[in-house]
Amino acid sequence: MTKMFSRILVANRGEIACRVIRTAQKMGIGTVAVYSDADAHALHVAMADEAVNIGPAPVTDSYLRADHIIAAALKTGAEAIHPGYGFLSENPGFVDAVVKAGLVFIGPSADSIRAMGLKDAAKRLMEKAGVPVVPGYHGEAQELVVLASKAREIGYPVLIKARAGGGGKGMRKVDDPHEFAEALGSARREAKSAFGDDRVLVEKYIAKPRHIEVQVFGDNHGNVVHLYERDCSLQRRHQKVIEEAPAPGITAEVRAAMTGAAVKAAHAINYSGAGTIEFIVDATEGLKPDRFWFMEMNTRLQVEHPVTEMITGLDLVEWQLRVAAGEKLPLTQKQIPLNGHAIEARLYAEDPAKSFLPAIGTLHHLAFPASVRDGSVRTETGVRAGDTISPYYDPMIAKLVVHGADRTAALTAMENALTETEIAGTTTNAPFLAALIRHEGFAAGDVDTGLIDRDLVRLTVPVAVEAGAKELAILYASGLLKRAVLGDPWTTLRGYSHNSTLAYPVVLEEAGHTVRYGVSVLGDERYAITGPETSIELRVRHEPACWHLTAKGINLRAKTVAIPNGIAVLSKGAATTFAVADPFLLAEAAGNAGDRLTAPMPGLVKSVRVAAGDVVKKGQILLVLEAMKMEHSISAPHDGKIAEIASEGSQVKEKSSLVRFEEAAAVDSTKN
Ligand code: ADP
Repeated sequence: MTKMFSRILVANRGEIACRVIRTAQKMGIGTVAVYSDADAHALHVAMADEAVNIGPAPVTDSYLRADHIIAAALKTGAEAIHPGYGFLSENPGFVDAVVKAGLVFIGPSADSIRAMGLKDAAKRLMEKAGVPVVPGYHGEAQELVVLASKAREIGYPVLIKARAGGGGKGMRKVDDPHEFAEALGSARREAKSAFGDDRVLVEKYIAKPRHIEVQVFGDNHGNVVHLYERDCSLQRRHQKVIEEAPAPGITAEVRAAMTGAAVKAAHAINYSGAGTIEFIVDATEGLKPDRFWFMEMNTRLQVEHPVTEMITGLDLVEWQLRVAAGEKLPLTQKQIPLNGHAIEARLYAEDPAKSFLPAIGTLHHLAFPASVRDGSVRTETGVRAGDTISPYYDPMIAKLVVHGADRTAALTAMENALTETEIAGTTTNAPFLAALIRHEGFAAGDVDTGLIDRDLVRLTVPVAVEAGAKELAILYASGLLKRAVLGDPWTTLRGYSHNSTLAYPVVLEEAGHTVRYGVSVLGDERYAITGPETSIELRVRHEPACWHLTAKGINLRAKTVAIPNGIAVLSKGAATTFAVADPFLLAEAAGNAGDRLTAPMPGLVKSVRVAAGDVVKKGQILLVLEAMKMEHSISAPHDGKIAEIASEGSQVKEKSSLVRFEEAAAVDSTKN
């Protein structure tokens, strides 16, 4: 007889920590959260029975500190550790340390992780086990001449991959033999700096590739099952954006071949727990049983596991806990159902129109689709309204997961879920996700990993501000709408009785200028807005969930929320924010001309390329700022002479000065 844990520690943060805690609670298992200084008030901390601080905000000082995490488990009497994904989840040294401390690691053995840890060794192992592997060279030799001749044997185009790779780093496509040496050098340098290991493998570059992966599960009694496939072909920079199950267009024959190979792969390493076998598929002629190849195995729970849960109705975290406690797999292969179609979209705080620059900010307003309505929408998140997206961690806000009877129904459900999501305070990729859902190729199931890049411009056009949004913001900022709803007779009366010159002032900040408007009440639900150049009459009705604004050429239904220094207008899944200035503080705000560059977000000055006194040209890179785990080059907006520049290695706050120019810019941005 096995005994279920009475208390577990979750060695992670964000949505996945919350996800694991929820299942533990459902099963009556106590939970311990760990957190960094930056996460003291995070949702996962609030949800857990107990929480332990494991260090400062940077992950190397907290979520990657195996010693602190194990000490926290021992101190709180946790019997097992769930690693979530990322961080220490695929670190065999951590697994060894957990076991040595007398605790259970909720995941596979250290040996299984090691066997799949390096792409070259894993591929050799899979070849031996009879699993199809992408044609290529996975050997030890690393000399340029050997690799170049292997590349010629494989046939161009080829893909150079870091054997220790992850997240698409150290990967280079080479189309022509003349470019091989150069690409190899740059792949090696990137691999060295990312993984401390510059060894590579070379494989055939698959044309029109699809990424299809199989969810597997093993137990400690020699059983392995699969839970069908997921298609994760919609990627940007080798990162998944939208995932779904089943794979569009898959036949029973192809599914049998892929899931069979996946189960074989898991058996080859005596796999226990949740794992994913990733295959690359040549989709030039549709899905064929002999056109898929093993790419790698992820020896943990995946970000996209909810799509599998939606089509099987199973709880994969529950399975992980049962297997780790020594139980047999809850179901046999034949008992695992497959119902309908599920899609997941990763909602990020980032700006698609600005090359997906990670966005930070406070989530002043956050509302997800009515998830429990009919079980067709599920939201996985680690944040609440009022929380801040910090520069220290992955800026994912939530995963939206939908289920439908078929793919068409799931696509509709996702489009609805995206438009029903309300976020104000930070820029999100929701409009980009919605554009993807509507993309005719995706809708037709004709997916491949190049789809997003091919149509990137079209998919990332900035959303146009809806007609009437500004007017609604002005009306809301005037305070008159709220008073009308509250039935303040004085306001109404005043509107009728006073002459029309009595207008409520509202000042907006528009593209660096302050613009004054006046709002007057014309009658019941009727208002006039007078601006510098225009005057408009409108009608605003209060509906249960939104305002309904009508005017000549305008018919807008939207919500408004007050955010610090402004108003956000929410409609169709997008938020437009209007900065409202306090008329009395305006005088003070004048100043700060174009001779200064400020930090767009908090970060670390990674390198400084020029010094005070240097004369620089427009476009020249002045310094590199590392923020949100990415490097951003800050370049000169105009020619000039540097008066002051931030020092290398310094931490800067949002809006703090990075560079000051000696000669003021020729163009004064405050003039029209
Ligand atoms: P990483 O571990 O760095 O994420 P993977 O080996 O998992 O690297 O590959 C990431 C992505 O790169 C895949 O999902 C696929 O889009 C693309 N890719 C990988 N191998 C090939 C290949 N041989 N041909 C074409 N594309 C590939």
